[in-house]
Amino acid sequence: MHHFNYQHGELYCEEVPLRRIAEETGTPAYIYSSATLTRHYQAFDHSFADIPHLTCFSVKALSNLAILRLFSRLGSGFDIVSGGELYRVEQAGGDFQKVVYSGVSKTEPELEYALSKGILFFNVESEGELELLNQVAGRLGKKTPVALRINPDIDPQTHAHISTGLKVNKFGIELGQAKSLFRDWKKYPHLELCGVDCHIGSQLLRMEPIVEALSFLVKLVGELRGMGLEIKYLDLGGGLGITYNSEHPPLPGEYAAEISEMAKASGCKLILEPGRVIAGNAGVLLLQVSFLKENSLKRFIIADGGMNDLIRPALYGSYHEVWPVTQKPDQPGSLADLVGPICESADFLARDRVFPELKRGELLAVMSAGAYGFVMASNYNGQPLPAEVLVSGRDFHVIREREKYSDLTRLEKIPEFLDGK
Ligand SMILES: *Cc1c(COP(=O)(O)O)cnc(C)c1O
Repeated sequence: MHHFNYQHGELYCEEVPLRRIAEETGTPAYIYSSATLTRHYQAFDHSFADIPHLTCFSVKALSNLAILRLFSRLGSGFDIVSGGELYRVEQAGGDFQKVVYSGVSKTEPELEYALSKGILFFNVESEGELELLNQVAGRLGKKTPVALRINPDIDPQTHAHISTGLKVNKFGIELGQAKSLFRDWKKYPHLELCGVDCHIGSQLLRMEPIVEALSFLVKLVGELRGMGLEIKYLDLGGGLGITYNSEHPPLPGEYAAEISEMAKASGCKLILEPGRVIAGNAGVLLLQVSFLKENSLKRFIIADGGMNDLIRPALYGSYHEVWPVTQKPDQPGSLADLVGPICESADFLARDRVFPELKRGELLAVMSAGAYGFVMASNYNGQPLPAEVLVSGRDFHVIREREKYSDLTRLEKIPEFLDGK
């Protein structure tokens, strides 16, 4: 369910025609619906109303300050994976006591930064990180809560690039090794063991691997309690999938129903780290058609945005629906590729898809682009990053200006030996 709909043949976000946004801010632009973001957050969070829990929106999915502020106002916590993301949460006015910090390669300055803010807990992913965090916390005279991220070796049955809970993946600590770290916990006097964590992958479409991961953690919590260790938090990560095309992921209510009882019985507070399921269908990438080109084999629709703005099709072969901003009823259409301006053959947004007749200048909306869209955009080929716009009812707000050419070179310097200064 989202708030991008046709009204009188024109595509709207809530009460605003996308054409109007394009006229004022230009293209390419990411357009987000605040109503959809709010609804998705609340649908998810309310599904767990019966059990002690904290929903921590995964900042890496969509990290604009305005969006983080919106979630913060709704009561959300945040799952971060870097000091940069903690800075974003800080700038957005988020509550540090609702921040959990995951990631395999946290640096010493990052650990110091997070320690100085007093986050809820660190999800530690290796023995080396445990030692470093203990050292840094000791130096700062702190004792910090820590959960261990376990790699449960469970196949999440998703795309190989977004599977994270198998032994071939770099994430987490395998069970046997984690157990010996738990046994020797007194080696880390500045770390207070508070939880266990796993995140097995993203765009999960089936409940079984999730339930398996949960029962794995619940069993572990039992064993740790048996060893006299107190475990307060059970962090199940994120990963719930969405419909891009014809997928049928579990709905948040179904997801909650399947796991709530077991989570509650564990006696732990359940931590959830949803990203895609909240933001994915709350945003679109708005593009303009630059040219149309056909050769003897193929039809190309060439747009002003491409893999530089939305890399998911190039990176994972992902499917995004593409809707013309002006509806074209009764047109049979024909097969075409939607491609962008980048000098790479991987620069496509849709392949062999039926498109209606289009003209130069027409607008297209690449759907379901709210998560892992703007956050993965790059300046490749000298392309300024697109604008981001947040719609709220009849109003829209530019929440990130389109980059200018001067932004492209802002941090660069020509050294003196080349006659620079
Ligand atoms: C990416 C990530 C998430 C969010 O994943 P989604 O599939 O967007 O829900 C949650 N937790 C961790 C540790 C992650 O790396």
